[in-house]
Amino acid sequence: MEVTQDSILTLELPYRERAEIRRTTFRGGDGPRMALVSGVHGDELEGLYVCHRLAAWLEEAERENPGMLRGSIELYPALNPVGVDSLQRFVPVFDSDLNRSFPGRADGLLPRRIAAAAMEHLSGADLVVDIHASNIFLREIPQIRINHEFTSTLVPLAERANVDVIWVHGSLTVLEATVAHSLNATGTPCLVVEMGVGMRVTPSFTEQLLIGVLHLAQRLGVIAPDLELEARRHDPILADDNNVSYLNAEQSGLFIPAVDHWRAVGSGQLLGRIVSPHSGDVLSEVRSPTSAVLFTLREYPVVYEGSLMARLVQT
Ligand SMILES: [Zn+2]
Repeated sequence: MEVTQDSILTLELPYRERAEIRRTTFRGGDGPRMALVSGVHGDELEGLYVCHRLAAWLEEAERENPGMLRGSIELYPALNPVGVDSLQRFVPVFDSDLNRSFPGRADGLLPRRIAAAAMEHLSGADLVVDIHASNIFLREIPQIRINHEFTSTLVPLAERANVDVIWVHGSLTVLEATVAHSLNATGTPCLVVEMGVGMRVTPSFTEQLLIGVLHLAQRLGVIAPDLELEARRHDPILADDNNVSYLNAEQSGLFIPAVDHWRAVGSGQLLGRIVSPHSGDVLSEVRSPTSAVLFTLREYPVVYEGSLMARLVQT
């Protein structure tokens, strides 16, 4: 196994600093190519840790089973490096969302240049996994989000990814300027993972997704078919516009969650309370309207009337 590190884009910054988009490539042979992308949003760090864990897994697997890597695995832990360095969601200075800048332009401003370089290097991969980590307000259990246009190619892959939910979005929510849409529309399959919470790392989710990524790599022929992997323990439930419900705050206040196991909640189960910081009053009780998988839960406690507290998919 050959390990190389390089930069897919280097840009001089005004004060003699340089922005570099770094890539690590693990190459075992001429077999298929898989890429992990994260840090498109600079405040989402879960994917950076997945990259670390996958790199560590590959190094150990190669020691124990030399030659197990048949193709190559590329890691792009921080596609928005200045954002990750400065803890900003968007591309700093330009204040633009990198995930609304695709497919980009090689002669454009920084966000579009990053997008163009990413497209150039990711295109043609057998699979790209783009890992997002929600934002600081909401925590997500490991899930894959798929644009309905690409259901037939992506759902069979997503089913092997050891996630809890696959959410197929309808046409109204399609965002065309994302890395995933740009890749999928040009024939490179790209799965979008959402998990965890912004500015944090959730190791149990990392390990869950790592197992899924390894199963996908084996399925694609990137790693040897006879290599024994840890079993997948999560079978995803399929969500779409018909079975997803949103719980929004009826009152402003502090949202205090009441669930610790949130994969299966019962109809009427208490999910949390909105309380007053000024008195002992419980302003509102938040209950599940149905038997469901609670896949999004409010992490940031302050809510306003209408703030999203939870998303559920009916089981
Ligand atoms: Zn994101």
